[in-house]
Amino acid sequence: MSSNENERPAPVLAIVCPCYNEEEALPGSLETLNGLIGSLEDEGLAAPGSYMLIVNDGSVDGSWHIIEEWHRRHPARVKGLSFAGNAGHQNAIMAGMSEAYHLGADAVITMDVDLQDELEAVPRMLRDYRRGYDVVYGVKVSRKADPILKRMTASAFYNLQKRMGIDIVNNHADFRMMSRAAVGALEQYEERNLYLRGIIPQMGFRSTTEEDTIRERQAGHSKYNLKRMLMLAVDGVTSFSVRPMYSIFALGILYLLISLGIGIYVIVSLVSGNAEHGWSSMMLSIWFVGATMLMALGVVGLYIGKIFTEVKRRPRYIIGERLY
Ligand code: UDP
Ligand code: MG
Repeated sequence: MSSNENERPAPVLAIVCPCYNEEEALPGSLETLNGLIGSLEDEGLAAPGSYMLIVNDGSVDGSWHIIEEWHRRHPARVKGLSFAGNAGHQNAIMAGMSEAYHLGADAVITMDVDLQDELEAVPRMLRDYRRGYDVVYGVKVSRKADPILKRMTASAFYNLQKRMGIDIVNNHADFRMMSRAAVGALEQYEERNLYLRGIIPQMGFRSTTEEDTIRERQAGHSKYNLKRMLMLAVDGVTSFSVRPMYSIFALGILYLLISLGIGIYVIVSLVSGNAEHGWSSMMLSIWFVGATMLMALGVVGLYIGKIFTEVKRRPRYIIGERLY
């Protein structure tokens, strides 16, 4: 296959999929991934011994039984990792990548187990790997398959982070390829508030993008509701940007200037004997300033919350079982 001797050899590939209550989607997805890995190996894009690693993020349905069953049938091809409880999508991805790294994988591709991402992007990512890229981001080119609310919240999500000065890849979720070196580096980030989309571009590895035409979920339903999306957005901003604090500070200066103007007005009113007119402006200021202080406290609270969880240095997840 490879003609250029500068190319890297085909990697032992691990496809890492987080899985939370996906018993409807799993059978079809495992079948598809099994076929995909087989053909990648046949085409010489992935080395023999490539596998999928399904990370069961504390599912309470029959997901883990399905994974166990597949592991029994294809012990080398299907590996499983199961959390004792639900630790979240980002942690599941991180755990899977870490495990694959320690099992010796040369390249890791993370993708959701509902397989909404474009599978044809996988061979393209592997070609990029062979050309020397350490990170390949899957970038959604069309969100036609996504519901309108999801599309709107998603674009607000990326815009907000851009405005906060966070270096993220537009329309890239967590469908990505990482080389062994990149995953090894990622392991050095010990923060508990894990926001991979912010960390990975920051590491500075040689990277490129591949188009990802998202399709509708074939089975099961979305686990990312509005609340989870908002939490991820808040996490992204407060884990990577101190701009909210700066803007509060700027607002404070603005209010200082306004109160100076009010001070002059009060003195002028006093001198001219019109002081009783001040009641309305006073009420206004009290409310205004009160609201600002509450807002500022809220922002400070967000960061203190982060410090609180970081200093505890709790494990990100507790592994209950390993299947390999
Ligand atoms: N997921 C997970 N833990 C969670 C929520 C979701 O591991 O707490 C997994 C889920 O099984 C799926 C992926 O994360 O493989 C993305 O979730 P989903 O497809 O529901 O989100 P959407 O594609 O609608 O954004
Ligand atoms: Mg999905």
